[in-house]
Amino acid sequence: MDSMITNPIYCGDFVYQRYYVTDTITGRMTENRGELPQYTIKDDHPAIVSREDWDAAQQIMNNRSENRKGSKKRRHDRKEFFNVFHCSECGAPVIHVRSSKGGVHYWRCRTAEKKYLEETCEVRGFREVSIEHTFMALLQEMKKDDGFRDNIRQALKELIPNESERKQLEQVKEDMQQLYYKLYDTVEEGEQQGGDPTQIKEITGQIVFLQNQIYDFENREQNCLEAEKDLEWFLEELEGIQEFKPDKERIEFRPDIFSKIVEKGVIHPDGRIVYDLKFGMQLTATGNEKMVWRLKMKRKARKKKK
Ligand SMILES: [Zn+2]
Repeated sequence: MDSMITNPIYCGDFVYQRYYVTDTITGRMTENRGELPQYTIKDDHPAIVSREDWDAAQQIMNNRSENRKGSKKRRHDRKEFFNVFHCSECGAPVIHVRSSKGGVHYWRCRTAEKKYLEETCEVRGFREVSIEHTFMALLQEMKKDDGFRDNIRQALKELIPNESERKQLEQVKEDMQQLYYKLYDTVEEGEQQGGDPTQIKEITGQIVFLQNQIYDFENREQNCLEAEKDLEWFLEELEGIQEFKPDKERIEFRPDIFSKIVEKGVIHPDGRIVYDLKFGMQLTATGNEKMVWRLKMKRKARKKKK
């Protein structure tokens, strides 16, 4: 993700020779750190994000790396929920809010909370405690479901790029290599005879298109590799989840599991949360509308006496 945010391609600039080929047989690319001249072609192609957004993202990235050392404002603890939930009704992000009396933590659709004039949404907020509780109940369901382990492993298998996709990628890399040669020639010719900016633009446009396909593929592959490891970790952790009766008691929330397995969640007005897991599976947690904060925490299981 970070490499996407810092790649100028996404704001419409194409930096010619940002990378160059160090091995012409494998097509291996190396970042150009001044070994070869770089040209930036501003507003070269339609931007994937606006220049403003892109500049803002750079700002945030810079601040973030500065903040790592320096002082930070204390944020809300349940950071695992940030940027995870969306509203089923309007699609807006679900944000953290705190009630004025009692300081209870809620998560609510941003549109509904901010009451924008141009758009409205009526979805209520749900208590953080409820979201945590129904997530733990969902984990318990997974644990008790006999077919779950096989099903989720199978779901992940289907996400992994297959042989024909791999072959396609090799072709894309080959095509891109050819385009780079063409670009070199065109730029060189241009230097001698005044140049043809439309042709350069056309070629760079094609390169950007192919480059994005390669990025997407590589991201996907990388994500799958990580997901495979995470899945085995998760299935092991699942075994250790304390059994409880979700209607009668609560157990401690597991933020580590939540952030390892949840890709995103869509919150519905009736209190359902539809989770997309990172392993290519969708599961629904129910009961967020219930007053679970009244339930007592279950005591940690003590070792049974023999
Ligand atoms: Zn909404």
